[in-house]
Amino acid sequence: MADISFFPYGVGHRDGGVCLELNLGPYRILLDCGLADLTPLRKRDPGAIDLVVCSHAHGDHALGLWQLHQQFPHIPILTSGVTQRLLPLNWLGVDVPVFSQVLPWRSPQEILPNLKVELMPAGHLPGAALVLLEYHNGDRLYRVVYTGDYCLSHLQLVDGLALAQLRGLRPDVLILEGQYGSRRLPHRRQQEKQFIQAIEAVLAKGRNILLPVPPLGLAQEILKLLRTHHQFTGRQVNLWAGKGVAGGCDAYQEILAYLPDNVRNFAQHQPLFWDDKVYPHLRPLDGPQGKLSLSSPSLVVTESWPGAWPSPPALPGLWTVFLPRLVELPDCLVNFAWENLGQFPQYELADYLLADHSDGRNTTQLIHNLRPQHLVFVHGERSNIEDLTSLEELQSRYQLHSPAAGNWVALPIGDRFVQPTPPLPQIYEGEIHELEPDKNVHHLGEVAIHLDGQIMENSRWAKFGETGIVQARWQGEELILRGISQRELLRQSQTIRGLADGDCCTNCLYFQHYHCRNPESPLMGLQVRGDGHCPVFRSADNVQS
Ligand SMILES: [Zn+2]
Ligand SMILES: [Zn+2]
Repeated sequence: MADISFFPYGVGHRDGGVCLELNLGPYRILLDCGLADLTPLRKRDPGAIDLVVCSHAHGDHALGLWQLHQQFPHIPILTSGVTQRLLPLNWLGVDVPVFSQVLPWRSPQEILPNLKVELMPAGHLPGAALVLLEYHNGDRLYRVVYTGDYCLSHLQLVDGLALAQLRGLRPDVLILEGQYGSRRLPHRRQQEKQFIQAIEAVLAKGRNILLPVPPLGLAQEILKLLRTHHQFTGRQVNLWAGKGVAGGCDAYQEILAYLPDNVRNFAQHQPLFWDDKVYPHLRPLDGPQGKLSLSSPSLVVTESWPGAWPSPPALPGLWTVFLPRLVELPDCLVNFAWENLGQFPQYELADYLLADHSDGRNTTQLIHNLRPQHLVFVHGERSNIEDLTSLEELQSRYQLHSPAAGNWVALPIGDRFVQPTPPLPQIYEGEIHELEPDKNVHHLGEVAIHLDGQIMENSRWAKFGETGIVQARWQGEELILRGISQRELLRQSQTIRGLADGDCCTNCLYFQHYHCRNPESPLMGLQVRGDGHCPVFRSADNVQS
């Protein structure tokens, strides 16, 4: 039997990022290296590491890679193609050559004898990968999945992780992030809507807006949202990007070909970011125009207090400072106390949520889809991870681990391990997707309700979905859904045929001024609709003929 064990050098909570060693059979594999300082690695002969896989370009996963490569250039470092292009943003001002090897999406490759590595898009950030490792020791195949940072929802600039691509994988070990714990969050589109409304309300008051954000990911999401949202197109708003954010925008231009279709389409007609022709304008704050006095209303997206600006109390204008919720701020942001700006009269503080990790519901959904023997949680505050490991639906099915940095975890694989069955829900939760109405065609818009495919495992589904047609009706505040059966559909079409034949009240001998005058009808004397019908219909035509 092959040995699998796990040693975290850093688990990503303010302790210098994520850096995990996986021992799989004879191999030592490093999953991410977000350590600013490689000291923890030195205790365990880092030169003997066989392979490094970097999940994505965020600093908390990549910061230590360049140092590691300089000291041990013989160790191969694998990333996705997009991550390779974004990586240098972690070492601005340093001339870093390409030092990683690209692994194409969804193509397993035997990197070392009997060890295959495969990358799949994980959402969260362009290029972010879920890593699948397969080791065959001659007797049996061992599978380990590492999620890196992942997100199931589609963001503006990257599509979400597709659960369908993971079905049937059945890994022995799943190493996953628990950043948001078991928290439930609103659907991402809803978050974006609320964010836009909040920005809108502040602009309407004539205030400027300051958005301190990490320079890669959230910053570009916000700028893309503001540049393309119908409430902002053509509107005289000036968007400005801080230095690091601007660097991130430039890097995104380089990976345009890998961004979602609608983004590429937009970029064919106008620049994705830099634009001083079509409103809302977007310019780098340290460019030539950025030195001009800020014209109102300005919206500044930046990773630090802009170098060319006066000190906070001396900045002219009224400002609302929006702080992101649930975001672990990188050092460049932490070094400035944004919350303290509220003490000066021209600033007010606000917050918003644009989540780019998986929430509690999506986390359990992913786990039940993969059904591993061992679950190893990393990347998240202790209390958030504990919220996950204390969930009964996980405790009763999987072997749970949430090691602190510097602690070994043995992951013995049971030959008789039976894949646990996921819990059968009594209530199905889903997401609402509102499609905006199209004013040009007087379209009312559309609503899609997404439910997990698990609902189809219920024996009643076949009947419910028989015709693919549903009826919805309100019952108080609740919306009741009913599947239309074949038989009902048949009955309806017979009725319609009946109507076509003309057997409706309009054509009835006793239909007068929208009232029924047939003494044999139970509706006698009552107001009726022209398209109604009843068993005692008598054709007006027949009488005349
Ligand atoms: Zn990340
Ligand atoms: Zn992370």
